[in-house]
Amino acid sequence: MEEQQRRGNTLYLVVPCYNEEDILYHTAQVMQDKLDRLIEENKISIKSKVMFVNDGSSDSTWKIIEGLCKQNSFFSGISFSRNYGHQSAILAGMMAARMHADMVITIDADLQQDIEVLDEFISCYQSGCEIVYGVRNDRDTDGFFKKISANVFYGLMHLLGCKVMSNHADYRLLSKRALDALAEHKEVNLFLRGLIPTMGFQSDVVYFDVKKREAGQSKYTLKKMVALAVDGITSMSTRPIQIITILGFLVSLFSFIMIIYCIIDWFSGRNVPGYTTSLVVSLLMGGLTIFSLGIVGEYVGKIYLETKARPRYIVEFFIWKESSEQAEAIKEEIKY
Ligand code: UDP
Ligand code: MG
Repeated sequence: MEEQQRRGNTLYLVVPCYNEEDILYHTAQVMQDKLDRLIEENKISIKSKVMFVNDGSSDSTWKIIEGLCKQNSFFSGISFSRNYGHQSAILAGMMAARMHADMVITIDADLQQDIEVLDEFISCYQSGCEIVYGVRNDRDTDGFFKKISANVFYGLMHLLGCKVMSNHADYRLLSKRALDALAEHKEVNLFLRGLIPTMGFQSDVVYFDVKKREAGQSKYTLKKMVALAVDGITSMSTRPIQIITILGFLVSLFSFIMIIYCIIDWFSGRNVPGYTTSLVVSLLMGGLTIFSLGIVGEYVGKIYLETKARPRYIVEFFIWKESSEQAEAIKEEIKY
């Protein structure tokens, strides 16, 4: 029964774009062709759309999106007041699409993620899944540095007890039901890859190949990658703080033993030069203390940001061809 109801439902593709002028026309064309085919095959409804989210680009990305929306109501667009980052861009797109779609698939603008697996995403949805995760087959197309950093990141996340799926980026399908649940999560520190698996729901995995970027460059700079990793760890796990406590206990125990040892030494009248030892120990202790303070500080900072509860993004423009009044209403509703 449910499967019957899930046939021909409305799909929105949410596409985050940050300085993607080199590839956006091509992307729009490829996405339109793909959705047209899916509509023809009756897999999705004719009301399906592509929603671009301009994440404060400094090039002509938004101009291109505006042009595309003018030509064809098949496209719609959201524009942020500044660069808020990939995670916020996806969230805004999903929250806007939630009002009209039965399912949303988030996909990068650079077409690196194989768009042909959309059929598989949809068939998982039709068979009752609320969440479908796209997982990449291999990392052959990645550079050496990206491969290493990804492995370190996933290794660390697992070690710290975070439920993230290895090699799953943000290519995924969420049903309306899952999107409504996601909307209940109000945290400012956003790490969707960690957050979404904690919601439960019936889910499945679709494997896909990653292609080389056809145009433009990666927008994930080292700084952005490190920020995402730190956000990921600190928003999903408090284990680093527990590790500090254990480390502090072990160091205290060691110091206590050393004190007893020194006292015995002093009583027995031995005079140890010990310059190197004391230097090494004090440097080590200094380093450990500052590092631990840094980790605790990271969490305090997060608490600070959460209590301020600032908006996760500011939408400056929203193009919705059907009705401009509705566009204004949605602009209000997607304030998160
Ligand atoms: N992106 C974004 N905001 C940012 C950085 C990236 O919206 O601050 C978008 C970008 O336009 C692309 C997607 O996120 O659609 C993934 O970025 P990219 O392909 O550059 O990352 P990579 O594939 O190299 O990890
Ligand atoms: Mg990419």
